[in-house]
Amino acid sequence: MGKGSVINLHTHTTFSDGLFPPEAIVERAAKDGLTHIGITDHFETSKVASLKAGDFWTYLRRIEELRRKYEGTIEVLAGVEIDVNPERCALDRLPFDMLGELDFVLFEYVNDEANDGDDMEDLDRILSKISVPMGLAHSDLKSCFAGMGAAEIADMLSSRDLFAELNTALPYRRDGMTFYELAEDVIRGFKGKVKLSIGTDIHRRLLEVSNVEAAYRFIRRLDLEDDLLF
Ligand SMILES: [Zn+2]
Repeated sequence: MGKGSVINLHTHTTFSDGLFPPEAIVERAAKDGLTHIGITDHFETSKVASLKAGDFWTYLRRIEELRRKYEGTIEVLAGVEIDVNPERCALDRLPFDMLGELDFVLFEYVNDEANDGDDMEDLDRILSKISVPMGLAHSDLKSCFAGMGAAEIADMLSSRDLFAELNTALPYRRDGMTFYELAEDVIRGFKGKVKLSIGTDIHRRLLEVSNVEAAYRFIRRLDLEDDLLF
């Protein structure tokens, strides 16, 4: 997988704190030539307006309608983003049966002290309950796993079958560089071990739907196209 695909697997809609309904995101992605678009609204977190379990089936049905409508043009995928800060999200009470119906699940703030996110070891009890592909959203790998070497980080993720997202959005930068650029040595070691995703985290600006070029340049330079999730 990877060669020829143009993916964005991190977008927010009016089901959480995004400005546009899912169809506007999908339509724009199709126009811009993306091959895969994932809708990943915030789920059951008090951090921001988020999708509630009571609206989950409406959300999933809406995305499935779009999948059918755009079949042959663009692949529409259903995901959510889960905040692993236990003060904001009741992680043990998540509806795991619902999450198992998605195409993938993103976790934000794993091992992230600045955001009081749960440690990877704490998260293991949840990972075992979800059977669909899961990955770390916009992880500042160099900072969140600062005590670990590149190979150790790759092993930690691959042993849990977690993918890592390259997030292109402005908040996920330090010193003028994206988190993924800062972690180049770590990500280079993911080859053949840890799958990669690309996400733009669009909330309010439609042009961000296809803001993936820089991440693709990075992936091609590191020869990691075959390691993309799609
Ligand atoms: Zn997000």
